[in-house]
Amino acid sequence: MKKVLILTAGFGEGHNAAARNLRDALEFISDEVQVEVLDLFESTYGSMNTLARSAYLNMVQYAPKLWGGVYNLLDNSKFVENRLGGFTKLKNALADILHETQPDCVVSTYPVYAHVIQELYRDYAEKPFTFITVVTDAITVNSAWYSATSDIFCVANEPTAEVMEKAGVPAAKIRSLGFPVSLQFTEEPAVPLRLPLGEEPRKILYVIGTGKKKAGKVIERLLSLANVQLTIVCGRDAELKAKLMERTSEFGERVHVLGWTNQMPKLLLTHHVVISKAGGAITQEAIAARCPMIVNQVIPGQEEGNARLIGDYKLGAVVERNREVPELIEEAFSQKAKLWQEWRKNLLRISRPDAALTLAELVLAECEHTDTSREKIKLFKPADTGLKPAGPGASAGAPRMLLCDFHIHTSYSDGKLTVPEVVDFYGRLGFDCICITDHLADPRRLIGKLARLSNMTVSEDQLGEYFEVIARERQRAWRKYGMIVMTGIEFNKDGYTKKTSAHLLGIDLKAPIDSALDLPETIAHIHAQGGLAVASHPHIMKSEWGKNTLYLWENHEKFAHLIDAWEIANRHNIFDCVGMKRLPFLGNSDFHKPKHIYSWKTLLYCEKEAEAIKECVRRNEHVSITLYRENNQLVANSPLRQATVSATTDPREIIVPSAAAMIGAHSH
Ligand code: ZN
Ligand code: ZN
Repeated sequence: MKKVLILTAGFGEGHNAAARNLRDALEFISDEVQVEVLDLFESTYGSMNTLARSAYLNMVQYAPKLWGGVYNLLDNSKFVENRLGGFTKLKNALADILHETQPDCVVSTYPVYAHVIQELYRDYAEKPFTFITVVTDAITVNSAWYSATSDIFCVANEPTAEVMEKAGVPAAKIRSLGFPVSLQFTEEPAVPLRLPLGEEPRKILYVIGTGKKKAGKVIERLLSLANVQLTIVCGRDAELKAKLMERTSEFGERVHVLGWTNQMPKLLLTHHVVISKAGGAITQEAIAARCPMIVNQVIPGQEEGNARLIGDYKLGAVVERNREVPELIEEAFSQKAKLWQEWRKNLLRISRPDAALTLAELVLAECEHTDTSREKIKLFKPADTGLKPAGPGASAGAPRMLLCDFHIHTSYSDGKLTVPEVVDFYGRLGFDCICITDHLADPRRLIGKLARLSNMTVSEDQLGEYFEVIARERQRAWRKYGMIVMTGIEFNKDGYTKKTSAHLLGIDLKAPIDSALDLPETIAHIHAQGGLAVASHPHIMKSEWGKNTLYLWENHEKFAHLIDAWEIANRHNIFDCVGMKRLPFLGNSDFHKPKHIYSWKTLLYCEKEAEAIKECVRRNEHVSITLYRENNQLVANSPLRQATVSATTDPREIIVPSAAAMIGAHSH
């Protein structure tokens, strides 16, 4: 088994995208590789980093000129070296991780790691792994990327390779493989894009960036052009989405307004042109999709190279002012779309939609070169413990203690993490079964309508995608962590008062369920799919924002025979009434962000298999709840552990000793 460590940082969007896509490609082409993606800024600097990052994002949003200045400052290797003095914590953490995990290959998608590794291995040739830097900048490459050495530098295209060479990087070390975009770009779209000629619609994708809310006029002008169909992506700004939907409603089917989406690959593959700012990820994705790009906003510094790539190589065009966009679009499609066809031809030449796979092959080949005679410590997967006598591959018939959480929100509703991030978060902590339960609001209720507008719930038109994405992650979670991932929904039936409000979890659903059904009908549909119907937070609780939902409890005599289990604990709240009535119970996080992990969980003693798990809940035998805590001692002892604890520690090693916090709530 080969081990690859990918180091990234969540500053800007390109670094994480490159890291994730490379990981997916490695796992796709080989069963013989373990891949770990780590953001040491995240793990080492914790909440401080969150602050630094939001400061960065705010700066980019509101003061692009200022950020340009900062970026230039960073483009001075002295500055990076000096900063390294303050990076001792990061250096120690990386040293510890490299020592314990002994990877065959280390890949970095963020320039600072090369400097740290150079510090750690004064004799660079002696380091026991290959170090590959994946440069996510294009053309204007910040010198921090190459002022510390790497065994191999991978760049997105030839022009960038030339820039690196001119800066003194030996040509033999540079590989121009393309930017590792999502594997979805290698899939042919179901309906191929037709030439924008004659009556064929001109399909335009308009991605509205932050700080660019005055797009209304441009949109109207675009729609005044013949045969134009417009898809607008406006991100999480619900107010903007509502405004645009109203403003464009007269155009009917010619306009689609989307909020936040993770379907960019599909959208880029099915549109003739994308209008967007020159962000690192989207520029590379547009190139991979061979979708000509019109850049209408450039953040000075890191985005300038992306804009030059588009402009200089005629892969689209860069406009000074947003209002120039409609004219340019008109020109692009005039004269049998001459200009558009030229852009497209140039794109075909430079586009590498399968770059992630090529890069993965290079990484695997480098793994072969490393010396495998060294003794390696297996730390990428949670260690087996007494509580989990057999791994996922063992006979399914053996019951064991399973750590479960059946109430988790993601960025599909109001959670902070995406579905893949939730899977990695829980997988690393060694959970056995989780269920993702994003909010679905009832459109018949006013509060449901409001919730929808504020993007706090999954929208009806994203439900199909929601099921698809979780199904894909279910496979990955099982392969990588031996963790079962179920698809669920939290049905929000909110009334004007707490007594008329109810939240109901549908657990292990196979297909979407209409959000406008009443509670008994919803439960019937959940049961028809073999799922569990669970009453969430059924009694009075202290909540950060939500109001109490008492309807099910007020009517528990009517609902008792319909509901499979009641949350006896939700996050920090305990509902002792559920225990007193001897109703079947569960304990859940109601997870919205990482700190919510320190909350009530369910332990089930049964086979690690979806049907057995559901049956265990229904019978409610061998069910306990446990208050999840990390071993603070362990963390306090060594700051280094903070970086590795999530990747290497089975939480049950921690839970069992703290039995004092465990409620012996066996129901029989
Ligand atoms: Zn709820
Ligand atoms: Zn919830």
